[in-house]
Amino acid sequence: MKNGVVIVGAGHAGVQAAASLREEGYDGPVILVGDENELPYHKPPLSKTFIKDAEAKPQPLRGEAFYSGSAIDYRPGVKVDRIDAGGRLLDLAGGGALAFDHLILATGSRPRTLPLPGSDLSGVVSLRSLADARLIRDLSAQSDEVVILGGGFIGLEIAATLRAAGRTVTVVEAVDRLLGRAVAPVVASHVRQRLEATGVRILTGTSVARLEGENGSVVAAITSSGERLPARMVIVGIGAVPNVELAQQAGLAIANGIRVDHQMRTSAPEILAIGDAASYRHWFTGGDVRLESVQNATDQARLAARTIASHADAYSAVPWFWSDIGDMKLQMVGLTAGGDSHVVLGDLPDNKFSIYHYAGDRLLGIESVNRPGDHMLGRKMLGAGFSPSPQTIADGPEGLKAALAAFLEKEPARAAG
Ligand code: FAD
Repeated sequence: MKNGVVIVGAGHAGVQAAASLREEGYDGPVILVGDENELPYHKPPLSKTFIKDAEAKPQPLRGEAFYSGSAIDYRPGVKVDRIDAGGRLLDLAGGGALAFDHLILATGSRPRTLPLPGSDLSGVVSLRSLADARLIRDLSAQSDEVVILGGGFIGLEIAATLRAAGRTVTVVEAVDRLLGRAVAPVVASHVRQRLEATGVRILTGTSVARLEGENGSVVAAITSSGERLPARMVIVGIGAVPNVELAQQAGLAIANGIRVDHQMRTSAPEILAIGDAASYRHWFTGGDVRLESVQNATDQARLAARTIASHADAYSAVPWFWSDIGDMKLQMVGLTAGGDSHVVLGDLPDNKFSIYHYAGDRLLGIESVNRPGDHMLGRKMLGAGFSPSPQTIADGPEGLKAALAAFLEKEPARAAG
């Protein structure tokens, strides 16, 4: 145990893994290496608040004192270039090497790029890091007109945020609806209506053919139908790709992410992978998934620490996610792909409702808009393996709480889930 654990990537997953190792009583060296030159920070506020407020400060995941106080050797601004899996050694960019007993890959994901004429112009940006957010904030101060490519969560959050800051915002989405398959069509069209009511222009079923520049800076996006959308800033938000290159070069198994087992071990057992970069067989659906959420990153980090501390738990967290788009708090729990029916609670015009998705009589997941109570209850139900009938759902939250309590009384072992 002389070399301890090295964690590559100081984002949500990496920092939680370092903290959890200490919580698990691991007393060997813990080295956290990150290629950003920052105190590790929360990513979700970047698209929701940070970019519209010149005074906003990044929100650190942990205070500076946490790292020294927990004997975590945090090394910012250090990029790992190569893994020698057999020799248990990392090569660092700029020279130097680091030996490990265990390695945790928490390298996250990066924005997908769009190969488009003009995409190298100044003012064409995407949002992943604090450095990106600072750039968008600076550009936004000089850009009345903004075009956002992609109608996914991050694109729509940015659209709502910049619109609230007074910008003219157009979202261009290639398919015929917003939010891809992430939410039910009824939720996607609700989000669209409310965003449009604030003045965001949304073009679906439309792509951007090219970007037009002047003196090296973007000035317009030209759509597939030939429309010219003036823009001093174009934000590309068309999804993310996992950072798997280090793992790939080291010969680890890859499957739309670094393939891990139920204990977060890669195909080399002393190397684990967690967070956005990791792909695993999900206990809930039986399919391979790679999730991009804070919950997934932090829960997998806790489990990786337990694996290294020799606990034999399997990953069984119920996935959940949130997004704030203007006046809508969207919260999702479970995985709803494969659903064949749904029940609605609440009221769309009130901007407060939840959709309960079923496959046959099995509850798969719940999408809520401004109904946090439904979301929290849903996490308890799915965590306990409780699948209420659509009729019980229709009875409303009080009936559901009573049904869950009755279920847990019969099956108390499930209460911890
Ligand atoms: P990251 O947090 O991305 O951390 C990975 C780190 O590894 C990065 O710092 C990267 O630079 C570093 N790294 C990569 N390769 C190397 C290398 N070779 N050497 C050294 N360092 C390396 N999720 C939600 O649940 N709700 C939200 O509302 C939400 N909003 C979001 C808003 C934005 C703008 C973004 C970008 C993401 C949002 N997410 C949200 C997703 C969430 O932030 C991610 O799922 C989460 O950050 C994943 O954590 P991670 O540690 O796997 O990756």
